[in-house]
Amino acid sequence: AKVDRRGSYRFFSRQLNARSRERLSLETDLRRAIERDELALFYQPKVDLKTNRMVGAEALLRWRHPQHGIVGPASFIPLAEDTGLIMPLGTWVLNTACRQLQIWQAAGRKLPRVSINVSSHQFRQRGLVQGIRDALAGAQLDARHLCVEITESAIMDNAQENISTLDEIKSGGVALSVDDFGTGYSSLSYLKRFPIDEMKIDRSLIANVDGDKDNAAIVTAIIAMAHSLHLRVVAEGVERTPELAFLRHLGCDECQGYLYSRPLSARDFAALLLVDQLP
Ligand code: C2E
Ligand code: CA
Ligand code: CA
Ligand code: CA
Repeated sequence: AKVDRRGSYRFFSRQLNARSRERLSLETDLRRAIERDELALFYQPKVDLKTNRMVGAEALLRWRHPQHGIVGPASFIPLAEDTGLIMPLGTWVLNTACRQLQIWQAAGRKLPRVSINVSSHQFRQRGLVQGIRDALAGAQLDARHLCVEITESAIMDNAQENISTLDEIKSGGVALSVDDFGTGYSSLSYLKRFPIDEMKIDRSLIANVDGDKDNAAIVTAIIAMAHSLHLRVVAEGVERTPELAFLRHLGCDECQGYLYSRPLSARDFAALLLVDQLP
């Protein structure tokens, strides 16, 4: 029997194994999550290593699932991408992050920037650039307060087409960050063709950077070359004080990680914003 796309899920569900059934219920749940207001953004500070001040926050998606509690993005973003739900989800993230930053700024909190994540699927969709414009306009937030993070691998596949999308985002005044840098195969000299502002060194390279000779050598080279291209360098996943000290010594610009703070709910993050300087 032929059924429409939506109906087909229900039709075949009886024959599906347990795992697929789980996936189906997850999809149904996810579809409703936005309407039911179950999604939330958590915020993790980005700290300037020269001033010890918070200069930004990365917005990280969470799902307050009625049965499963707080669910991280790794367990539902892939499904959202397969089903196209990533589009409404992405729009929700953009709007929520921009509105939240505007609220904090209007309340006098000093937070210059919010960063959001864009997956490769979202990046390939037309409408992303317009979605960004709409979110900024809707929140009455200036573009310079928004940063879009996109992974190195997403930028690298289909690089030629990506340059024009990146150019469009950039020309609107939004900053661009290359996420998970160091895990792909791109050379920094290649990256200079892209209109990017920031480079985030992947967590896997930051772990034990103070003790692991290979990681130290790679991170040292990345920072030096990124700086020669006038890019800001952010280390992600900083968990230990010796890592922080080493990164500071190398001239890394910003750090993010559990050492400073885990990602926090908007309410908890607002409390952190009242603290002027971090250790
Ligand atoms: P990412 O962009 O690389 O985000 C950093 C991840 O590392 C986050 O995981 C964060 O909670 C975690 N993290 C931060 N500091 C530390 C640390 O010191 N140690 C360790 N072990 N982990 C740390 P999270 O929140 O589970 O997000 C996972 C991924 O999901 C993100 O990786 C990003 O690729 C994706 N993601 C998150 N939010 C969104 C979103 O709104 N839209 C899209 N498309 N993807 C998102
Ligand atoms: Ca990120
Ligand atoms: Ca990352
Ligand atoms: Ca990652």
